[in-house]
Amino acid sequence: MSATSQIRHPSPRDLALIALGDETPTPTELHLRDCRACRSALDSFLRVLEAGRAAATESVQPPARVWEKIRRHL
Ligand SMILES: [Zn+2]
Repeated sequence: MSATSQIRHPSPRDLALIALGDETPTPTELHLRDCRACRSALDSFLRVLEAGRAAATESVQPPARVWEKIRRHL
């Protein structure tokens, strides 16, 4: 029997906190080392965060002429 089956999976909230870089509760950290399912869930969180950060750092300002068009329609 592996150690993983004796430990509860961390909640999605815990995984999200880890993904956000908050303090990792030690039992959760240990669990992640052994549990493939939770690591892949954490990976998904990290990918979403990375995508969000990438989008946030890219210039999302529309060109001035787009603003002109928008103003005309208001
Ligand atoms: Zn798990």
